[in-house]
This record gives sequence, structure tokens and C-alpha cells, in this order.
Amino acid sequence: MTYSITLSETSDTFDVQPNEPILIAAERAGLQLMHDCRFGGCGACRIKLLSGQVSYEEPPFGLTEEERGQGYALACQAMPQSDLTISAQLRPEGFIPADYHVATIAQIEKLSHDVIHLILRIPTAAEVSFHPGQYLNIMLDDGSPRSFSMASPPKGDLFNLHIRRVPGGFFTSRLESHYHIGDTLDVELPLGNFRYDAQSSRDLLMIAGGTGLAPIKSIIESLRSTPPTPRIMLYWGVRRAEDLYLDELLCQWARELTNFHYIPVLSEADGQWQGARGFVHEAVCRNHDDLSQFDAYLCGPPPMIAAAKRELPLRGINVERIFADSFNFTHELDGSVA
Ligand SMILES: Cc1cc2nc3c(=O)[nH]c(=O)nc-3n(C[C@H](O)[C@H](O)[C@H](O)COP(=O)(O)OP(=O)(O)OC[C@H]3O[C@@H](n4cnc5c(N)ncnc54)[C@H](O)[C@@H]3O)c2cc1C
Repeated sequence: MTYSITLSETSDTFDVQPNEPILIAAERAGLQLMHDCRFGGCGACRIKLLSGQVSYEEPPFGLTEEERGQGYALACQAMPQSDLTISAQLRPEGFIPADYHVATIAQIEKLSHDVIHLILRIPTAAEVSFHPGQYLNIMLDDGSPRSFSMASPPKGDLFNLHIRRVPGGFFTSRLESHYHIGDTLDVELPLGNFRYDAQSSRDLLMIAGGTGLAPIKSIIESLRSTPPTPRIMLYWGVRRAEDLYLDELLCQWARELTNFHYIPVLSEADGQWQGARGFVHEAVCRNHDDLSQFDAYLCGPPPMIAAAKRELPLRGINVERIFADSFNFTHELDGSVA
């Protein structure tokens, strides 16, 4: 049975076929709903159901139980079970379509015991630009992608990445031994909807887990270059002190900028550690009873994102003002494991 969907923002209506996800039906009707991964992992295609019901083949892990209970759905996975009225974001102005390029490795250097700074030179992408917060895909020989966020704002033809070595990881664990300066890699960019909302005048709560710092750093650097910089609280969660691979730089920013506050949080701190302990979202909740004046930007592993999305609204943050970039393993969920 065909159902009809109405988009409340524009009053557009379109039909959806049986067992068809909303996103696909919207695209057929020429409507570019906001989306990214297409497999229910990232949450970028979150919509609000104003009326009607949907079902899923599998509950998407990019949508928490709480969000589901509040009437949200993920357009890339949700299949209507009735006519619907939805509230959804369309792709923003300035959307830059992704394209394939050949990158040359310009630098590979250690930032810590398990994080590598990889700098790619991509002459054909110098003009393309990207929004701070976005990522690129490195395409392996078997065609499977590995996603990494740009760690600095656009600057000429050089693209900075922070890459954590995943034990046994096909690409990341062989990066240092297998790849050398001058080698080429096929890449696709720019990708992703994680970016700063310049329309907002709220304070920024930025929560990074591990190399989730990369896109957050890129956003903060771009804000620094266009003052006045909004008030920023950056919480960076890692396991041990040795994992704080850019601690010195962030401490320096905290000294230079009155509006910038940096709180490193260790989940496996030793006795020497004087700072915050536990999971990073717990430290945020300990320090703030009321987060209602903040926009939150979350980036890191899926469990960190899920926990923060669950807990932050309990401190008064508006669910609509939480922007998240989850480091899922895209190629595996796609069914094409390297
Ligand atoms: C949008 C996006 C942006 C990302 N940006 C970054 C970034 O800037 N820096 C960065 O370091 N990573 C980032 N990631 C994660 C990164 O893509 C993966 O770590 C990488 O693809 C792993 O590739 P691999 O070939 O080494 O591991 P695989 O061979 O693909 O995986 C080997 C094993 O490790 C597990 N695994 C894979 N990745 C991870 C992981 N990240 N954490 C824990 N276990 C894992 C797999 O489940 C598998 O069992 C991002 C992911 C996404 C989706």
C-alpha cells in the first residue's frame, strides 16, 4: 500500500512505496532531506513524526530509545505504516557535493603511541573546499571506504587527519609500516553534515572522545579565525594521560582565549592524575546542572555519543541543539568488510 508523506516545513507531499524508507521516497520526489551514512548509524537524517507511524527492519543504532520515545525517526531506515506528517531538515545552503580525487601522502608522523598525523596533498580538491567538521573517505583497493575527519579548516591543497590505530585494523594498523610519503590514495570528499551552526548565538559545549577531537579542532580553529569567538567548553575524553595527544595545544588555547575552556577527562586515570575522571559525559553532567544555554557538538565512538545524547537532555539541553558525528565502522555495517 502506498502512503502519503507531508513535509511540514514546505507543505510538499510525496508518496512512499511499501517497505520503502522515507529518504529514498523523498529523493525520488526531488526533496534533498539532510542525511549522511544511509544505514541508520550517524543520525544525520533524524526527522520528527508529527503524525503517523513508522517501522524498521532493525532498530537503527543512530537513534536512542529516548529519541524514539519523543517521536523522532531516522529517514534512511524508517518505513511508513500510515500516512505521515514529518518535520525534517533539508540539505543546507552551501552544500558541496562529494567527488573522488587522488591524494598524495605529504607527511606521516606520530602524535602519540596510537595516533598518527597523516597529511594528504590533494591538488584537485584545493578549490572544492569543505565545511570544518566534515570528513573524507580513503578508498581501499577492494573498494571499501575508511572515514577520517579533517582536523583543520580548509587551507590550500593540504588535508590534516588524526588517525587512531585500531588493533588488528586493516588500514590503520598498517598505516605506518605500509604507506610512505609520496604514495597515492584514492579519496572521496567532502562528506558529512557535522558542522558549526553559525545562525546560533548559544554557548558551545564540545565533547570529543579520542580522535573525535579532529573535527572539533577543525571547527574551533575556524571560529578562532573569525572573531568574536563564542564561549566554548571543550571536554576531551580519553583513557589515560598518554592518550591526550594534543594536550599542550589545547592548554595553550585555554591560556590565549578567555572564552575557551578545556577539560580533559580520563576514564582510566592513574594516581598521578589531578584532573577530571570517569566517562566524559559524566564529567560534563557533574560540572553543569543547567545546560539549556548550550549547543552541543559531540564526536567520537558510538557508545560515547549514545550516552551523551541520553544524559545531556536531562540537564536541560534541547535535543534539537545536539549535533553528533559518530565514528561508526561504515564499511562493516554496509556489509562489505575489508
Ligand atoms: C564519519 C566518520 C569519521 C571518522 N573519523 C575518524 C578520525 O578522524 N580519526 C579516527 O581515528 N577514526 C575516525 N573514524 C573511525 C575510522 O573510520 C575507523 O577507525 C577505521 O575505518 C578503521 O579502519 P581499519 O581498516 O583500521 O579497521 P577494520 O579492519 O575496518 O576493523 C578491524 C576491527 O576493529 C574494529 N574497529 C574498526 N574501527 C574501530 C574504531 N574506530 N574503534 C574501535 N574498534 C574499531 C572493527 O569492528 C573490527 O573488528 C571515523 C569514522 C566515521 C564513520
